[in-house]
Amino acid sequence: MTMLKGKTALVTGSTSGIGLGIAIELARQGADIVMNGFGEVDGPRASIAAHGVRVAYHGADMSKPGEIEDMMKFAAGKFGGVDVLVNNAGIQHVAPIQDFPPERWDAIIAINLSSAFHTTRLAIAHMKRKNWGRIINIASAHGLVASKDKAAYVAAKHGIVGLTKVAALELAATGVTVNAICPGWVLTPLVQKQIDERAAREGISVQQATKELLGEKEPSLQFTTPEQLGGMAVFFCSPAADNVRGAAWAHDGGWTAQ
Ligand code: NAD
Repeated sequence: MTMLKGKTALVTGSTSGIGLGIAIELARQGADIVMNGFGEVDGPRASIAAHGVRVAYHGADMSKPGEIEDMMKFAAGKFGGVDVLVNNAGIQHVAPIQDFPPERWDAIIAINLSSAFHTTRLAIAHMKRKNWGRIINIASAHGLVASKDKAAYVAAKHGIVGLTKVAALELAATGVTVNAICPGWVLTPLVQKQIDERAAREGISVQQATKELLGEKEPSLQFTTPEQLGGMAVFFCSPAADNVRGAAWAHDGGWTAQ
């Protein structure tokens, strides 16, 4: 599996969850990986490097444009530039609008939306020069439909779907494609926190809270996995997807079909 040999993929928020799953699948295809994100680095780095690719790590805080610029320069210096950009880093906060802490709103918009503007604007020149590039934005079912108590997250995810379309149009006559993936529930730390909070709030078991969470939104009653989303990212990188532009593809167990 060498489809991406000689190419470099930068995955924001790849120390955990979906970003790590995508980084592993891109590495399986031979891409060198620039990792980013907080928390433990060595274990995730080893699981990517196990595929025989080069792995570099930059700990930029995605809420800080200056650190993002530094990360993009670091990627260029290490591996010559970013060919596949996966904008994945994200956080969540759940509260009704009247109680929503303004600083949480600002952080979610910065990390889940504005960071993708900054990485994209800094990645385009190299991709255009090579006349090949892939920008893959990890949006959400919440980029297509809303849920209550998630104002900042839903606004940011709808925003990133809009950014995806604009970038795809601006680059439509080049070999650079821009698309979004819209997952439903994926069992990562971001969602485990919501399940645990639900169990505590309703005085039910974690197992019951998991069942309720899935049942509320996802007709398949199944989580999507990071590996499956990695497979979707690999498809977007393949020649079969050369003319897929500005799409926001759901991988959500039927959530947004309702
Ligand atoms: P996660 O918490 O497992 O991973 C989030 C990653 O982002 C981690 O690597 C974390 O360190 C990094 N991160 C957080 N804040 C950061 C910052 N300021 N700077 C740099 N890195 C930062 O969560 P996940 O579920 O894997 O989420 C990944 C993406 O997928 C997010 O954009 C999320 O909105 C989206 N998503 C998740 C689900 C789901 O059900 N889990 C569904 C749809 C979309």
